[in-house]
Amino acid sequence: MHGVMKPSTVYCLKLLLLLALGGVTMHVPEVDVVASLGALCLDGHFSFHDAPAAARDFGNRCSLLPAAVLHPGSVADIAATVKRVFLLGRNSPLTIAARGHGHSLLGQSQAEGGIVVRMESLAAGATEMKVHGGLWPHVDVPGGELWIDVLHETLKHGLAPRSWTDYLHLTVGGTLSNAGVSGQAFQHGPQINNVNQLEIVTGRGDVVTCSPLENSDLFYASLGGLGQFGIITRARIALEPAPKMVRWIRVLYSDFEAFTEDQEMLITAEKTFDYIEGFVIINRTGVLNTWRTSFKPQDPVQASQFQSDGRVLYCLELTKNFNPDEADIMEQEVGALLCRLRYISSTLFHTDVTYLEFLDRL
Ligand SMILES: Cc1cc2nc3c(=O)[nH]c(=O)nc-3n(C[C@H](O)[C@H](O)[C@H](O)COP(=O)(O)OP(=O)(O)OC[C@H]3O[C@@H](n4cnc5c(N)ncnc54)[C@H](O)[C@@H]3O)c2cc1C
Repeated sequence: MHGVMKPSTVYCLKLLLLLALGGVTMHVPEVDVVASLGALCLDGHFSFHDAPAAARDFGNRCSLLPAAVLHPGSVADIAATVKRVFLLGRNSPLTIAARGHGHSLLGQSQAEGGIVVRMESLAAGATEMKVHGGLWPHVDVPGGELWIDVLHETLKHGLAPRSWTDYLHLTVGGTLSNAGVSGQAFQHGPQINNVNQLEIVTGRGDVVTCSPLENSDLFYASLGGLGQFGIITRARIALEPAPKMVRWIRVLYSDFEAFTEDQEMLITAEKTFDYIEGFVIINRTGVLNTWRTSFKPQDPVQASQFQSDGRVLYCLELTKNFNPDEADIMEQEVGALLCRLRYISSTLFHTDVTYLEFLDRL
């Protein structure tokens, strides 16, 4: 075991460190509170030098300095810490926030004068992820695991989660605390609709397994619960067979009504695309050079060949999954769907990429 703090010396060191951090105005918890946390026997450790890093997030608009950062070495570390804080009672000012990859925008993963639990410390990589095949394939993953790592691991088994975010460098616990939305949501729901079971450290410090059938109140509260109903330490995510390839298509519209009507038609159609997203492109320069991502140099948008004449344009991004031996069927299905759309005909462009390349496009 490492990182167990000796209460008196460590607290003095901590105060010195906080002062050395530039006289930041913050709430400093009572000496005995920090000392009591320091006395916990942990597999991981508390740290103070990285408190400023835990006071930042992707939004860069909010900075709340915590008193300490917990790097849990086990779920028991989180449970013991939460329990100790709970036992301090209602009058204690000490708060706790789980931090995934810190990609929230307004301080949601910060805890002023409190404890930030660095969930990525619990994500020990592939060894901690357990993929199960069979009739109902699923994967058990630590809450601090990045979705990109979940994808890499499940692909080794020819499987993948059904619902995604556009950007995969976010943690499982972080997106399940919100919703987790991308272009598969019209078919499978957001990521929170594709979870079979959670392990949660509750506000009392109990470790509870919950699912639609077991402790269902806690299960549904925690999914999309903004981290307010407990800390997700493990999630069981439903999987499906992963396709090998993706036909990735973009078309542009200048008519908003045609754009939304086509999009609605596609999401309700019987045999439709596997991914459907719409974007508004505001182009002030006359050339569409501010595209989110570009898939090939010959991409007409990237090559600046397409002149938008300053118009606001609307983009439909679509994909059809396929395996190489089914390419003909895919071509027919895609052709039939595209025939029904009213996009600007010169703006159809497409490419074929691997499933991994498509999902990890951002
Ligand atoms: C560049 C970028 C791209 C994005 N793309 C998408 C997208 O395509 N689709 C989409 O839906 N969203 C997207 N988001 C939003 C993103 O999903 C949320 O901000 C998400 O919360 C970030 O995950 P994180 O791991 O960084 O969580 P953090 O920002 O660290 O935490 C977010 C919230 O969840 C809580 N939390 C974190 N881990 C846990 C846990 N294990 N248990 C309980 N609570 C926890 C935190 O306390 C906090 O309240 C994007 C954000 C950015 C910055």
